[in-house]
Amino acid sequence: MTRRTGPTPTVRALVSDRDGGQCARCGLLITREWSLHHRVPRGSGGSKRPEINSPANLLLLCGSATSPEGCHLAVESHRRDAQRTGYLITKLANLDPADVPLLYHGAAWVRLDHHGGITVHAELDPAEVAP
Ligand SMILES: [Zn+2]
Repeated sequence: MTRRTGPTPTVRALVSDRDGGQCARCGLLITREWSLHHRVPRGSGGSKRPEINSPANLLLLCGSATSPEGCHLAVESHRRDAQRTGYLITKLANLDPADVPLLYHGAAWVRLDHHGGITVHAELDPAEVAP
């Protein structure tokens, strides 16, 4: 028997609703390939932490962790930038993802809560955003 360690269908629906069917990083309306990204990674015992499959830790991203196009692979392959923008949270930091601001749609810093909510933390001057 394979133990399911991913988010529940309820949580997946919450995240998809919260992100409005758009990629959290680039804002593209998702019509093709997409995936759920974990901000605090699941591996190495991470799945034992209750917040791993919380909406605060999950993002809708275009592409997949292996497809060359899309944001998911971009996040995985530019880890320092992803950490600076809140897309990756190192497990060693032991932070609650709800406390780590995220650069959402490249336009605003937000905080995600554990119940599928989103709060604007700070609007951003577009000139500040590195492409
Ligand atoms: Zn994207």
